Amino acid sequence: MFWNQKSDQCLLQFSASLLFTCVAPVHGGSLNVHQVASNVWMAQGEPAELDEENKGNISNSSFIATGNGVVVIDTGTTETYGRQLRETIKEYTDEPVRWVINTHHHPDHTFGNSAFSGVPIMALSGTKNALNRDGDFFLKTVKERVGDTAAETVVSMPNVNVEPGVKLFSGYSLKLMKFTGHSGNDLVVYDPQSGTLFAGDILFWNRAPTTPHSPGIDIWLEELDRLSEIEVKAIIPGHGPFARDYSPLVQTREWLLWLDALMKEGVMKGYSANTLIDAEIPGQFAGMSLAKFELTRTISHFYRKYEDDWWESTNR
Ligand SMILES: [Zn+2]
Repeated sequence: MFWNQKSDQCLLQFSASLLFTCVAPVHGGSLNVHQVASNVWMAQGEPAELDEENKGNISNSSFIATGNGVVVIDTGTTETYGRQLRETIKEYTDEPVRWVINTHHHPDHTFGNSAFSGVPIMALSGTKNALNRDGDFFLKTVKERVGDTAAETVVSMPNVNVEPGVKLFSGYSLKLMKFTGHSGNDLVVYDPQSGTLFAGDILFWNRAPTTPHSPGIDIWLEELDRLSEIEVKAIIPGHGPFARDYSPLVQTREWLLWLDALMKEGVMKGYSANTLIDAEIPGQFAGMSLAKFELTRTISHFYRKYEDDWWESTNR
């Protein structure tokens, strides 16, 4: 059973038992939109890696109707997605999109920017620099993995630098905070009016965190301590469902603590990276997608540093 959006008909497929039901279409076209607060929504991406099937829709985008225009937070992986998001927003509010914020430079959060031409696209200056550095490589990767859907996608830079602090959006205040743990330049946005924290990829939930641009798991963990001091009513992570409690923060911290302990123990015992990649993933992460995949990536690029640090500390 599925909703055929092209013909706008509910097509029924019989199951083997000849029982069937018909469900309403997902509101917001094919985007999986959830209302987080009276004026805040999240379009949830799939908990997967980029591929042709998911069309690159793997991360969360959010939008806030401020009363004087919409703030969009993150624009997805392709221009096609960005356009779809812009159209979808019209289903929820009559307010025009007036501002876009990029939480960080990764392609699944910035490559829909070109669909928002004419709108100021805000980011930390370090995010722009990082996108200048990595953009062409990201674009090649996205086009290879996503295929035709990404054909029109380009690297579209943020065009307004923002600093951490409280920023007014036609009178609607958002607190912008700078972190580094996930990508080196991570903007976390807090909306005091709705109590919503837009965490970008500083937080994941039920999808394993990615670490390739992290300056260090220890740094990320320290920042999570800072983040936990903020009183929130809802958290929107960069990937995974939103929560009305601190679950994304708790799980991200537990995952990073486990990785950190695994690599420290591995060094002490003289294990190879391959041994650690085969480590059993604790049951508490059973519901976390891509856990094995991200464990492999993290060990591949971080374990050498743990070995070097240990060697340096024992040969002083
Ligand atoms: Zn990211």
